Amino acid sequence: MTRARAAGGRAVAPVPAGTDPASSRAAVDPRPGLSGLADGVLEAWLADQGQPSYRARQVRDALWGGYASSAAEMQTLPSPLRERLEAAFRVDTVVAEEVTVADGGLTEKALHRLADGALVESVLMHYPARGGHVPGGGRRERHTVCISSQAGCAVGCPFCATGELGFGRDLETSEILDQVRHAGRRLAAGSGGGRLTNVVFMGMGEPLLNLDRVLEAVATLSDPDHFGLGARHVVVSTSGVVPGIRRLAALRPQLTLAVSLHAARDPLRDVLVPLNRRWTLAEVVAAAREYARVTGRRVSYEYVMISGVNDTEADADAICGLLRGDLAHVNLIPMNAVAHTPWQASPPGRVREFAARLAAGGVGATVRRNRGQDAGAACGQLAADRAGELPPPAVERRQESILRQSEAALRGDRSREAPPDVVPATVAAGEGR
Ligand code: SAH
Ligand code: SF4
Repeated sequence: MTRARAAGGRAVAPVPAGTDPASSRAAVDPRPGLSGLADGVLEAWLADQGQPSYRARQVRDALWGGYASSAAEMQTLPSPLRERLEAAFRVDTVVAEEVTVADGGLTEKALHRLADGALVESVLMHYPARGGHVPGGGRRERHTVCISSQAGCAVGCPFCATGELGFGRDLETSEILDQVRHAGRRLAAGSGGGRLTNVVFMGMGEPLLNLDRVLEAVATLSDPDHFGLGARHVVVSTSGVVPGIRRLAALRPQLTLAVSLHAARDPLRDVLVPLNRRWTLAEVVAAAREYARVTGRRVSYEYVMISGVNDTEADADAICGLLRGDLAHVNLIPMNAVAHTPWQASPPGRVREFAARLAAGGVGATVRRNRGQDAGAACGQLAADRAGELPPPAVERRQESILRQSEAALRGDRSREAPPDVVPATVAAGEGR
C-alpha cells in the first residue's frame, strides 16, 4: 500500500477519512461487531429469532471463554442459529494479518487489518513468575496485552511512529475488545495455556479522545459475565487530555491512569507532546492529582528518555518539583528507535543516574525495559512500515523541524512553529469531552 501524503509531505494513516468509526466501517460491512453490542441488544435479537434466553450466555461464553473467531466455532449453538448469527454480526473484527515474535518468545506483536483496511497493532507480553513460590513473596506469572484505541493518532508526538501516521479514525468498541480476545486466544492455544492478567491501552491512538468506546470496552472486560478482569488490572494511558482525565475522575473507575509526561517544562513538552499547547503541564498534573485523590490510586507517569533532549539533571529536578509529595510513580523508558526521528535513546548509565536523582528528590521511579525492539514494537511501527516510505525530502523536512523546535525549547523558548503534525484536529476532537 502506498501512503497518502498531506499537503506538507507528511504521511497520513492508510485509512478512510472521517471520525465516525461505524460509518466508515459500515460502508464496507454493515454487520455490527458481536463483542461490542450494548447491553440487551443480543438478548433482543435472540428473542426475535425465537431462541430461549440462555442462548445469550452461550454466545458470551463462546466469545470470552472460547475466544471464538467465527460463529461456526460456537458448538453449543444449533447450526441454523450459528448461520444466522454470522449473517447478522461480525464475530471477529480484527483479523491478524501478521504476528511477529521477539524477545525469545516473550513478546508477540500482532498487526490487525480492520474491515475498512485500517491497520492497528496489539502486543502480547509474557512476564514469567519471579521469586519462586507464590503467594508470600515473589511475583506471579503475568500476561499483558497492549491494545490500540484509534487507527493512527492526531497528537503527533515526534518520537512516536503512530504520531507520524496522523489520525485515521476511532476504533469501535468491538474492535478494541477483539484485540483482547485475539491475544487471549493465542495465549490459551500456547504451550503453557495461561490467561491474560493485564490489559493496557498503550498501543496506537489516544484513548481519552475515544473515551466513550474505551469506557464501554473496560466495562465489558471487567464484567464477570463477559471477561471478568478487575479494572485494577487495566491501564489507560493519556498524553494529557484534561477533560477526559476529569471525566474519568468523576466516574471513579478502579483503573490505573498513566500520563505520558516526557518533559516537566512547558516549552519542551510543547514539542515532545504537542497537546501540551492546549493543556499545559500544570493543568494535566492537577487533573491527574484529582484522579489520584478521588480514586486513591497511584498515577503512573511515563517518561521516554531521549539523549540530550529531556535527560539532564535539570529535567530530573523539574520532575521532582512537579510531582514530589504526589501519589505518583515515574516509569523511565529509553526511547525505542523509530524511523524519521532525529534522536537517540539515552544511554543506560544516564537512565540509571536519572532514576537515582528522582529517588533522591523524593519521586519513585522504575526503569522499564523496552520490549520487542526486534519486532518493531515501538507503538505504530509495523503499521508505519506498511504505509510505505516517505520521500527523502519529506523526511529531511520533518527531522529539521523537530530539531529546530526542540533546540528552541531547550533554550527556553515556547515554539510558535506548527508542530510536525495535526494538533488543531486533536484539540477540536478533544473539546467537550
Ligand atoms: N496515546 C497515549 C497512549 C498510547 S502511547 C499516550 O501517549 O499516552 C503509549 C506509550 O508509548 C506512551 O507513553 C508513549 O509515549 C510511548 N511511546 C511512543 N513512542 C515511543 C518510542 N519511540 N519509544 C518509547 N516509548 C514510546
Ligand atoms: Fe499519540 Fe501516544 Fe503516539 Fe503521542 S505517544 S502520538 S499521544 S499514540
